[in-house]
Amino acid sequence: MDCIFCKIVEGTIPSKKVFESEHVVAFHDIQPAAPVHVLIIPKKHIASINEVEAADREVLGEVLLAAPQIARQLGVAESGYRLINNCGSDGGQVVYHIHMHLLGGEKLGGLNVKPV
Ligand code: AMP
Ligand code: ZN
Repeated sequence: MDCIFCKIVEGTIPSKKVFESEHVVAFHDIQPAAPVHVLIIPKKHIASINEVEAADREVLGEVLLAAPQIARQLGVAESGYRLINNCGSDGGQVVYHIHMHLLGGEKLGGLNVKPV
């Protein structure tokens, strides 16, 4: 599968990993939109939130549970942060492997992560 995030999961493309669990990997965004900008992804290839199935509930739960752990690890749990999922063209999705952006480290304005 020609998917950049699957390649990060496999380790064939490098990433600055900050977290790994059974079904989840998280790494620093290559073009950070805030002082802390991490992408949290399931190891399983799911193209977007439109493609999630009931069978993915454990994997998706693990994605959400990773967020506060990573936030604590990177020192933004107390100051706060934002989790964003972009879906589809109008949502600004560029990489079609589902991911949550974790943004923090400053007072965030607006609501959007700018598409690359
Ligand atoms: P989205 O617009 O929600 O699909 O977000 C995709 C994000 O992936 C963007 O913020 C990109 O900067 C980021 N990105 C793309 N390629 C890489 C990579 N190789 N390593 C880390 N982040 C990446
Ligand atoms: Zn993928």
